[in-house]
Amino acid sequence: RRARHFEQLALTDPLTGLPNRRHAERWLAEHAEERGPDAAPRRGELCVAIADLDHFKGINDTHSHDAGDLVLQRFGTLLQDFSDSSAREGTSTLVARLGGEEFLLAWTGLSLPDALDRINELRRRLRETSFTDVVGGMPVTVSVGVACGLQPVDVGALLRAADRCLYEAKHAGRNQ
Ligand code: GH3
Ligand code: MG
Ligand code: MG
Repeated sequence: RRARHFEQLALTDPLTGLPNRRHAERWLAEHAEERGPDAAPRRGELCVAIADLDHFKGINDTHSHDAGDLVLQRFGTLLQDFSDSSAREGTSTLVARLGGEEFLLAWTGLSLPDALDRINELRRRLRETSFTDVVGGMPVTVSVGVACGLQPVDVGALLRAADRCLYEAKHAGRNQ
């Protein structure tokens, strides 16, 4: 029981309670290549979305590191609730904190247009979430890079593709 407890700790981000990067890496490796009930390789889609809060340093600098932590926690809760509410049978979903103000969403069984719809729905929910008690009038927005590939997937290449899209979203003005 103690070993299980420590394993759980090693896979969890203490600030948000979300799975951490190590957990995410395991999950992605497990879902990069999957077999169906008949042991045949699955040729479904694996999508990843890297979400990075915009101008987060400004929140720390203007308010405080504690305020920044509260924003990360609230955003983490939003991600988890969003993921729970959009779960569909026969598909798997992961939400994780990769580090700092960077989070990962991953899905199997979704196409790229579906994944983009979900991310835009997430951005809509973020718009409706109030942070005024923590950051006053400062906006809390997120930029996201999304990439999908057919299993078996090269997870490293998939994450690099999503990261490139995130970089483009940042340069195109953020909050997209
Ligand atoms: P961009 O829109 O380009 O992403 O700008 P940014 O300010 O969000 O990005 P930048 O990488 O410049 O700053 C990220 C900041 O996140 C810097 C770091 O101090 C802060 N940070 C990282 N981890 C934590 C944390 O656990 N808590 C708090 N409060 N801040 C953190
Ligand atoms: Mg960042
Ligand atoms: Mg950022």
